[in-house]
Amino acid sequence: MPTTVIRPHLLLLTTPSSYRLPAFLAAAERINAQVTVAEDTPPALARPLPGRLMIDFSDRPAALRAIGALHADQPLTAILPVDDSGVELAALACAALGLPFNRPEAAAAARDKHLMRQLFARAGVPSPAFRLCATDADLATLAQTVPYPCVVKPLRLNGSRGVIRADNPDQFIAAARRLAALLDRVEGMGTHEFLVEEFIPGFEVALEGLIDRGQVQVLALFDKPDPLDGPFFEETIYVTPSRLPEAIQTAIREVTAAAARAVGLEQGPLHAELRINERGPWMIELANRSIGGLCSRTLRFGTDTPLEELILRQAAGLPIESLSRSGNAGGVMMIPIPQAGILRGVEGIEEARTIPGIESIDITAPLNYPLTPLPEGDSYLGFIFACGPDPATVEASLRAAHAQLRFTIVPAIELTARQR
Ligand code: ADP
Repeated sequence: MPTTVIRPHLLLLTTPSSYRLPAFLAAAERINAQVTVAEDTPPALARPLPGRLMIDFSDRPAALRAIGALHADQPLTAILPVDDSGVELAALACAALGLPFNRPEAAAAARDKHLMRQLFARAGVPSPAFRLCATDADLATLAQTVPYPCVVKPLRLNGSRGVIRADNPDQFIAAARRLAALLDRVEGMGTHEFLVEEFIPGFEVALEGLIDRGQVQVLALFDKPDPLDGPFFEETIYVTPSRLPEAIQTAIREVTAAAARAVGLEQGPLHAELRINERGPWMIELANRSIGGLCSRTLRFGTDTPLEELILRQAAGLPIESLSRSGNAGGVMMIPIPQAGILRGVEGIEEARTIPGIESIDITAPLNYPLTPLPEGDSYLGFIFACGPDPATVEASLRAAHAQLRFTIVPAIELTARQR
């Protein structure tokens, strides 16, 4: 008798501007899964599209009703957040529908930097000292009582948005005001909570993992060879495998596992940032999602499996061939936005592509649109990918390729004047 293969039905939660969705859709095709995409859309902008649910993730009851109705009509095998925005909704919807995923409390802690810091402190996970503050506080008084250097940061943004270092009271007041203005724009006018943390000096790494029944399986450890000393913390180069001594890598794995346990994550992707100094690894941040931007292109597992396929296979309960990264050293450079303005042109791409080791260059910022650098911005100019015999060669290729690129960015006002 022929066996019937049940095709998994996956719901992917994402945002309209996500860099990550195409890679997940390609992976779903590779495992022959049926996919429905739920896009976080304010009700006013929601237009029905085939195969898409347009839902407002912040309206939890309505979002859960929409997902419940989809499940009743076409039963779901799993619900997966593609980016940070869907982490909590995925956990709530899975709990409501009896699908396995992380507990909603764990998902909430993975999304809220204050909750996360409290859980780390309680579990003894090395993590910066912190203090919860609010934008309506008397900043001049507050500035006299926080430690220096410190970092101010929002509770729920990502990609280093709104994260600012301050070395003295004047810088602290300016940073807190700047963060308040950003939060007014992003979350609506009002009083906003934010964190002030002790600044942890050191070398930074990013750990990419998959959590299975509470156990962290390390997929890749990336070094971030550019110093990240502030005042803003733009990501640039990631290179794997790490060049850190094995004993330090073991300590990084242990701190990450302890951090995931402290937050209560049991399943799914894990992306963690840690800083290493003479006192060992410090957990800066942990998220229940995979690496951002287009960076996952640097990773392949087993024979030739992309990261997103591992994540979908785990969620759908399908076998995973291997969690071992394949290939030599690999790396990516997220090209930072050097200044605000309108991107008018990019030159040098062809020359950069000829640099040995360069695999591809993807300029993702559209021409003639405004660019916003950190700490307010949330995008990159693009990505450079490289591979090579060892991490040092990969890093050198990325730097050489970046040096070839010339971006013409004109001030927004100048352009408007010329257009008139
Ligand atoms: P996001 O989730 O927006 O990426 P993070 O908390 O991870 O925010 O901070 C972004 C970056 O800012 C980190 O990768 C790190 O380089 C830097 N950073 C954040 N907090 C600290 C801290 N307490 N000490 C030193 N650097 C920090």
